[in-house]
Amino acid sequence: MEEVPFVVLGAGMAGLGASYALDSAGVSFSCYDKNNYVGGHSRTLRYDNGFIFDEGGHISFTKNPHVQQVLAENVRGAFVENRLTIDNYWQGLRLPHPIQNNLRHLPPELIVQIISDYKTLDACGTASGNGAPAHQTYADWLHLAYGPTFAKTFPMAYGKKYHTTDMDNLTTDWIGPRMYRPTIQELVRSALPGTAPIPNYIDHFRYPSTGGFLSYLEPFESQFRIQLNKRLTQLDPVAKAIEFADGETISYGSVISSIPLPELISLMKGVPGDVLAASQRLAFSTVWLVNLGVGRADFSDAMVTYFYDEDVIFSRINLPHLFSSKNAPVGCGTIQAEIYFSEKYKPFASSPQNLIERTIEDLRRCGFLRADDRILLADAAMSRYANVIYDFDRMAALRVVHGYLRDAEVRCCGRFGNWDHAWTDQAFVSGEEAARAALGD
Ligand SMILES: Cc1cc2nc3c(=O)[nH]c(=O)nc-3n(C[C@H](O)[C@H](O)[C@H](O)COP(=O)(O)OP(=O)(O)OC[C@H]3O[C@@H](n4cnc5c(N)ncnc54)[C@H](O)[C@@H]3O)c2cc1C
Repeated sequence: MEEVPFVVLGAGMAGLGASYALDSAGVSFSCYDKNNYVGGHSRTLRYDNGFIFDEGGHISFTKNPHVQQVLAENVRGAFVENRLTIDNYWQGLRLPHPIQNNLRHLPPELIVQIISDYKTLDACGTASGNGAPAHQTYADWLHLAYGPTFAKTFPMAYGKKYHTTDMDNLTTDWIGPRMYRPTIQELVRSALPGTAPIPNYIDHFRYPSTGGFLSYLEPFESQFRIQLNKRLTQLDPVAKAIEFADGETISYGSVISSIPLPELISLMKGVPGDVLAASQRLAFSTVWLVNLGVGRADFSDAMVTYFYDEDVIFSRINLPHLFSSKNAPVGCGTIQAEIYFSEKYKPFASSPQNLIERTIEDLRRCGFLRADDRILLADAAMSRYANVIYDFDRMAALRVVHGYLRDAEVRCCGRFGNWDHAWTDQAFVSGEEAARAALGD
């Protein structure tokens, strides 16, 4: 049996961050992933006919200089730097983002109602400035932050499509800078013509010039000892041994895991029943991505568009050819639609072909595609673990699972190891931190 001093499980952003830190420390380690590629959820699909799509529109908007430097070095400086253009689609209107800072594009009666609600909130002192008001559920937070009209029309409608459950079922500890709450003055000004928009919290981004997001990560494959096609089938924390699907068994000194917690726990030898049950209460969404390559590129100036209408199947689209022109053959364009499901709240009850057909139909109805557009590529790809759902089971279940893993000396990292909303840079840094902890730094 091979003895590996440091083992990293998963070769996505977090596993690569852990590998980076271990490599920098000069210790002996191996990183294992069940896939035949590095990058995990940050992978890129490169189709034979020249279209390139990431697994969800992956752009790097990190402000962390270290992560910026690592990624820039991996592509030898060959990245584009762009302003992120976002807009919204609602009932036939294209609205600048965020809507709460651009009310003037809404129907007059709706503007009046939104401002009236807001004025009442501020008068009651329940919500002022950008601080989080007193709240319990995300639905309460939205009502108190924006008033019932705006909350119901926009974030609650979008949230249902994205989180797959009612906003009453969600906590608020994930919001951070994601939801801008304007002051009443900003809100009223945004209803008047000619006022400057407030920038979104993600303003600029970097993206590899060629090859999609994965180009940032591929050099790691030869730099580190990464073993692909290695699916973990058992982790014995007492014997400090790991088994893989191909029959190989290794022993380890320290282990760092970015494998989604429900999967990891189900593979732990001797795991107590209450820990297993807690891991099964951790809710997550699954995304189906419909990738379309089209014979023209001028459907939209916005790289990302959010959709609020319930009868539009997708919640968001991104246009990868606007991230880098090399993501599509010359003269062609790309649209990627995100459609969310979850095992706990909204099980998948469709077929890939049906998702593709509905997506094309809805894009035509919303004016993004024309009936005579040449669809040169139509594919649907599934990513089982997309987003953590911050429901009311999460906190207690996570405490049990993480407590057990701490005692078992398994260090967790990444979006699905920490079970949070980490972006790529945060996942990478969490891997580095887990590795430093394993090194005793
Ligand atoms: C639709 C969408 C769009 C996004 N867009 C952005 C964006 O624009 N910018 C951004 O910064 N972030 C974005 N993110 C977030 C980003 O995807 C995550 O932060 C990041 O991919 C998390 O990396 P990770 O290493 O933690 O997890 P993962 O990439 O999921 O890595 C976990 C790894 O574990 C491996 N694994 C699982 N089970 C086993 C097993 N039994 N044996 C061996 N290996 C196993 C998996 O194969 C995988 O490679 C987006 C997310 C979604 C869902």
